[in-house]
Amino acid sequence: MIQDMAEVLHEGEPNGNHRIFRLKLRSGLEIFGLPTSNSYGGGWDLGPTWNYLVCGDRPFLIDAGRRGAGEELFQMMDGVGVSPADLAFVLLTHGHEDHDGALPEIVPRIGLTVKAHHIYGSLIRFYPEEAPPAVRKDFPAACWRCAMPESFSRKYCVDYHRERSVLEIEGIGDGTKELGSGIVSHHLPGHSPDALCVLLGEEAIAVGDTLLPEISPSPSQEGFFELVRSILEPAYSDPQAVYGLRSFIRSLKRLGKIAEAHPDLLVLPGHRLFFNNRWNEVVLNERVRELIRHHIDRCAAMLEILERGPKTAREIAAEYFEERLLKGFGMIMAENEVISHCELLIAAGDAAAKDGRYHATGAGQFESLIDSLEPAT
Ligand SMILES: [Zn+2]
Ligand SMILES: [Zn+2]
Repeated sequence: MIQDMAEVLHEGEPNGNHRIFRLKLRSGLEIFGLPTSNSYGGGWDLGPTWNYLVCGDRPFLIDAGRRGAGEELFQMMDGVGVSPADLAFVLLTHGHEDHDGALPEIVPRIGLTVKAHHIYGSLIRFYPEEAPPAVRKDFPAACWRCAMPESFSRKYCVDYHRERSVLEIEGIGDGTKELGSGIVSHHLPGHSPDALCVLLGEEAIAVGDTLLPEISPSPSQEGFFELVRSILEPAYSDPQAVYGLRSFIRSLKRLGKIAEAHPDLLVLPGHRLFFNNRWNEVVLNERVRELIRHHIDRCAAMLEILERGPKTAREIAAEYFEERLLKGFGMIMAENEVISHCELLIAAGDAAAKDGRYHATGAGQFESLIDSLEPAT
């Protein structure tokens, strides 16, 4: 249990900000939790990004927090007695700004190696010549279809994109064992095409945002694959292998298999490990089941809405989500969520798209499609 195992070195805030802890696993592996604050404004609190300092044969960091968090991270490392200069590398769970934003601050300062999934190394670059029509050509490939308004990207993204695009990345794949003894990477895409989970011996697993307590990670969209197909390595040429809800569910099923093979794994998520003044203990196979159930229920609810008549993603979002969730940029996120689910409904034959609207076909196959998805390999 995390609350019994974690030695809290700094209490921090009720949402987990600055709550520094140390874990010593039975194997002797020592792990520090170094949460860096996230402040996106608005009424909703995601809580900090949980970065982990793993002190195995060679100390390494998992994730680096948001842009601007570099100094905070270095101070926390000093505070637990590990000099940033001693880090062998930083390993990225996935290429979202709340996890990789601070890389351009910390990497040049100590000449740090960045290890991330191969796909990450491809998507952070700019391809002005190869960008398909109707995408944001001046953005890196990862963000070609970003739906956020210009005012947002000018403020938060432009510098981040540019600084990140020149990082040198040591690409790793599924099953990479060079990270340290007993430490193995698992490529579990879906939330993000480059998502990695890291098994830390027999006792713990860092899961990034692939599996979170309290919140359901947002799935990506299969439709994005066609846009970036030409810049991904040929190994990733299956349209539904790394993007979309189907790939996400397959990754959850793989996590379920990992849980079977390693019972009692301590789960170290990217967010919400500690929130509302309490630890969130995650039982891996139970959380996997809950999240798959959540998506089955969500598909069912969306299909029910479509059975009342054809609708756009925006109309479905407005009907399905509570109004408070649709404020500000909430509508953009809600529409993305709807599209991911409609893609699965279409794949199952339960829905079809015509003239920008989805409609129900009456087939009712989505649950058996989800059941039939094999764990990601
Ligand atoms: Zn994420
Ligand atoms: Zn995150």
